[in-house]
Amino acid sequence: MPSLEIQHVPILSDNYAYLAHDPGTGATAAVDPAVAGPVLAALDRLGWKLTHILNTHHHDDHVGGNMELKRATGCKIVGSRAEASSTPGVDVEVGEGDLVAIGGQTARVFSVPGHTCGHVAYWFEDSQALFCGDALFSLGCGRLFEGTAEQMWSSLNKLRALPDGTLVYCAHEYTSANADFALTIEPGNAALKARAENVRALRRAGKPTVPSTMTEEKAANPFLRADHPDLIEATGLAGKDAVSVFAEIRRRKDSF
Ligand code: ZN
Ligand code: FE
Repeated sequence: MPSLEIQHVPILSDNYAYLAHDPGTGATAAVDPAVAGPVLAALDRLGWKLTHILNTHHHDDHVGGNMELKRATGCKIVGSRAEASSTPGVDVEVGEGDLVAIGGQTARVFSVPGHTCGHVAYWFEDSQALFCGDALFSLGCGRLFEGTAEQMWSSLNKLRALPDGTLVYCAHEYTSANADFALTIEPGNAALKARAENVRALRRAGKPTVPSTMTEEKAANPFLRADHPDLIEATGLAGKDAVSVFAEIRRRKDSF
């Protein structure tokens, strides 16, 4: 089966919505459309017809375009069951382990609380694509607005367990600032230094740093490495458990 074709739709100052298109059936999903205009323009340019919206969480910079897109295209809106009351126009409520069909393509839903309590991620195994919203960023993770460090660490562990080649489509272009912070945590991490160089070059060329691969994130993202001996040593947190290390790195990032 052919893989999903995935297009970035840059929105607002640093959001990415994505269009995920199944070439076999023509079905197309918009992931986290903050506003409708740029999504409609991209659909028009690509000649794709919107059939679904996939929302990862209820923040306005992820659901703001829902109603206008639904009115314009008649698409079905898929969102977290736990956030159904705050997700505009939701038709299909999903949670951990549910399967969502976009034409001939199937996504598995993961519950990944922390940034919000009902945050979900969508994993298209056959296309090796993970849409993780504001749970996992390249070289970072979402702020703990609603959930606890313990919840977020367990959510990130769930995502970290996906195959190495998984493409991480996060919802923001934050990688450059995340790299600056990550280097304060693990200044000696060679994989991180290489990724930071690469990120600088991509941004200089005006290119997105997303998607990255899960392999790259596991090697360089401090928030996926709270149980790694190198990071624990570098941060001087020896003897602390992973949740405490994770919570401390998250605190440092909040005031970076
Ligand atoms: Zn958010
Ligand atoms: Fe966001």
